[in-house]
Amino acid sequence: MANVAGSSKVLAGQSSQELQGLAKQLSEPAYRGRQLANWIYKKGAVEFGQMTDLPSNFRRSLEDTFVVTGLATVSHQRSKDEVDKLLVHSGDDQVFECVLLPYRDRVSCCLSSQVGCPMGCTFCATGLGGFDRNLSVGDIVGQYLLLQSLTSRRIGHVVFMGMGEPLLNLGTVVAAMRVLHEEVGLSYRHITVSTVGLVPQIRALAELELPIHLALSLHSPFDAIRNELMPVNHKWPVAEVVQAMKDYARKTGRKVTFEYLVIDGVNDTAEQAKALSQLVRGVSCVVNLIPFNWVDTGHGFARPDQAKVAEFRKVLESSGVNVTQRVERGHDIAAACGQLAGQHAGRFAKRDRLVALQRAIPIDQ
Ligand code: SAH
Ligand code: SF4
Repeated sequence: MANVAGSSKVLAGQSSQELQGLAKQLSEPAYRGRQLANWIYKKGAVEFGQMTDLPSNFRRSLEDTFVVTGLATVSHQRSKDEVDKLLVHSGDDQVFECVLLPYRDRVSCCLSSQVGCPMGCTFCATGLGGFDRNLSVGDIVGQYLLLQSLTSRRIGHVVFMGMGEPLLNLGTVVAAMRVLHEEVGLSYRHITVSTVGLVPQIRALAELELPIHLALSLHSPFDAIRNELMPVNHKWPVAEVVQAMKDYARKTGRKVTFEYLVIDGVNDTAEQAKALSQLVRGVSCVVNLIPFNWVDTGHGFARPDQAKVAEFRKVLESSGVNVTQRVERGHDIAAACGQLAGQHAGRFAKRDRLVALQRAIPIDQ
């Protein structure tokens, strides 16, 4: 495949400075590197052929050794509500997904940070498939550039809510965010990192003092329930991780988000809504409710009906908590949160084996 990374080097993720160095190595003046950066990050060119003001011999020598994104599209689905979901790989058979989300007032995208995820949350399609590898800076920036090439509108918002746990790949995710900020021109405020709740990494991110929007997948205020949903809670329980989020908000001056996946009969009781409102007291935050997207987890988890979610919301709001409910898009192509599982032949087989295995194991073991 012509544009797959393979043995070629990937330009996506390199700074303008680095591209100027590259131009010099190829016996071109530095400003050719700036032009290259401009084509890639500002004009959205994903092929050298599009870079019409570069001399043809420079373009040819770039083509010999380099690729822009290095990503090959395995499948491209478009939902009825105009959400695009791409399944891509960068030269191996390890596929990952990214999603383009156009809204009336803005365009957002959802990026993956890993192929698969090792955190093992019991409600999540990605988690069920196990972990393959961390993505590189080029893989992450490449997803953005590829999605940007699908639309004439500017993608101004990025959420790391695709496959993987971004804080397990923190250095790389931060490097990718720097490129998106410094080269593409995105505001850090429009970049959201969603985490399962790795306390040392939340603290490390806070130390960088970048105004990145941080979201914690909380999903229950009670350790007993969160333990069953998210094995990470055994290591960093509710009180500790919520404290880390409060400290993050204080240090960065940013409002934080608590994501709350609502699963029918599991974490949607009034008791949990009350405990949740106590827990998040004293921090500038919003609680974002996400009705469970059905995934065959083997645990019999079900989506709550709208009335139940509304009831839960009412309890929170009556205690003064800011609440939003995720606007769900792309249902018909399984582009919603937790449904990105890299479903192609190989991974499907692996996932199916895992689902069968999980069915045989009770949730508390
Ligand atoms: N690993 C990170 C980011 C990727 S998951 C995290 O866990 O936060 C993005 C969001 O999708 C998380 O809030 C996660 O809890 C949620 N999610 C996972 N499975 C889901 C499902 N089946 N239905 C709805 N949301 C789900
Ligand atoms: Fe990983 Fe997030 Fe899925 Fe948990 S919810 S398994 S952390 S991707």
